[in-house]
Amino acid sequence: MPLAAEWLYSKLHQPHPQVDRVEIDRRAAICGACPKMENPCISCQGTRRRLVQLILRKKPSYPVIGNCGVIKSDLSADIEMVQGPDLTPGLPEACWKRTL
Ligand code: SF4
Repeated sequence: MPLAAEWLYSKLHQPHPQVDRVEIDRRAAICGACPKMENPCISCQGTRRRLVQLILRKKPSYPVIGNCGVIKSDLSADIEMVQGPDLTPGLPEACWKRTL
C-alpha cells in the first residue's frame, strides 16, 4: 500500500478525541498571532480540507488557518485534537503546545 494511503488509513481508524470549542478558539487565537504560522499552498487547500474533515469526522472550526512552521502540522486539525505537551525546539514561548 502506498505511504500516503497507509497514513490516511491509520488516521481514519484511530480515535481522535477533540477539545471543546473554548479551547479550539484559544489555540486558534494564539496561532493567529504567532510568527511561526505559515499560509498553506492555495492549490492544496481543497484536498487538505477534505482530509481534515475525514479525520475529524466534522467540518474543522477554522478551515483556512495555516500550518505550523515548526511542527509542520496542519493547524485546522491540530488545534482541535487532545494532545500532550510538546517541547519541540523552536516553539515560541507563547505556543499553546508547550503548556498543555
Ligand atoms: S508554534 Fe505553536 S502557536 Fe505558533 S503556529 Fe505553531 S502551534 Fe501555533
